[in-house]
Amino acid sequence: MRKLTILGATGSIGASTLKVIEQNPTKFSIFALVAGQNVDKMRELCQKWLPEYAVMASDIAAQRLKAQLTELNINTQVMSGVEAMCQVSSMDEVDTVMAAIVGAAGLLPTMAAVKSGKRVLLANKEALVMSGQLFIDAVEHYGAELLPVDSEHNAIFQCLPNEIQTNLGRCSLTEHGISHILLTGSGGPFRYSDIESLSRVTPEQAIAHPNWSMGPKISVDSATMMNKGLEYIEAKWLFNTEREQLKVLIHPQSVIHSMVQYRDGSVLAQMGEPDMATPIALTLSYPQRVDAGVAPLDFTKVGELSFLEPDFQRYPCLKLAMDACYEGQHATTALNAANEIAVEAFLNRRLRFTDIALVNQQVADKVCATYTPSSCRDLESILELDRMARGLASNFVSERQL
Ligand code: NAD
Ligand code: MG
Repeated sequence: MRKLTILGATGSIGASTLKVIEQNPTKFSIFALVAGQNVDKMRELCQKWLPEYAVMASDIAAQRLKAQLTELNINTQVMSGVEAMCQVSSMDEVDTVMAAIVGAAGLLPTMAAVKSGKRVLLANKEALVMSGQLFIDAVEHYGAELLPVDSEHNAIFQCLPNEIQTNLGRCSLTEHGISHILLTGSGGPFRYSDIESLSRVTPEQAIAHPNWSMGPKISVDSATMMNKGLEYIEAKWLFNTEREQLKVLIHPQSVIHSMVQYRDGSVLAQMGEPDMATPIALTLSYPQRVDAGVAPLDFTKVGELSFLEPDFQRYPCLKLAMDACYEGQHATTALNAANEIAVEAFLNRRLRFTDIALVNQQVADKVCATYTPSSCRDLESILELDRMARGLASNFVSERQL
């Protein structure tokens, strides 16, 4: 039986992970649950799953949770802070860690799981965007097992030969007869909107994704296609791609979750309902397959599938991320930080939807003018650059504030 720590247990991926585990109670069990601030949700999860440990981001949240669990006679040990998150990701009793904290906050606990050689189910794409080569090197050095949860990367993974699956980030695609990877994306809720109207988009409109149900940050990222940009960078590291081996394709129906094109003309695609339980189930059970509680795809109801090239005028964030990818680690770390600040400001109605890209661009330009990839030689310098970029982004947000 696999024993799990779930980082980001109260979120959307956390819920889908628990749904798969509920389907397979003899195969998987919960060791620890980790979350940010949502005490009520965490209390419910502790009542149901009785984990050994529950970790909250802040002391105050942990104290409130502890009081509630004591009242319920639940003896889950409650802790708080990043250190504790790293601890429950690396303890001997755990063999599998679901990395599903949103944003840069996920980096250290995810790294802790990598450095203790766990099976790491990677949903938190921001960690890989922030630390790229360092992350991939740590996976190899500490003998961790890395499995991509992000639906596109999970789809690509399924379309690749076993030798690449078990050596992510290090294999040559060319040597395995692969011409290129097609990273698909729905284009989000505004793919057909008048570009002029985008400056008036509200948070409610932006988080209403047409095909997937997800947390607020990734939903806004999907609307700007920054999500696809972060996924482009994520794919580069996971599959060790050269520029011409990675292409973005808009596929509004989200039936195909990404594809791999081989040199002989074959194209392998992974398809399914847009439900994260499918990729999560594969990462939990790999190389086996288990029930995910997902309805089978009914091809008689799928309708037509369409594909189009992304328009960078509609999606400037996608272009920024692709450029940052080839600029180097300093650029992707800074862009990720800026985007977190800008998206948060947009969600709090302090910034226009279209200004997210402008703030991101300002930070990227400034950082690229001052720093080089070697500014990110270790975790400390990455976190330092992350902090600096957040400060810059906050200043630019204030200048544009509504
Ligand atoms: P969400 O907002 O629904 O959940 C985020 C989780 O992170 C919550 O449990 C929250 O409490 C926790 N969290 C936030 N800040 C924290 C902190 N400082 N310390 C500890 N925990 C903290 O987000 P989500 O949609 O579940 O996405 C989680 C991650 O998975 C993101 O990186 C996202 O890009 C990635 N992802 C999500 C989906 C999806 O369908 N939801 C798909 C692919 C990838
Ligand atoms: Mg995705």
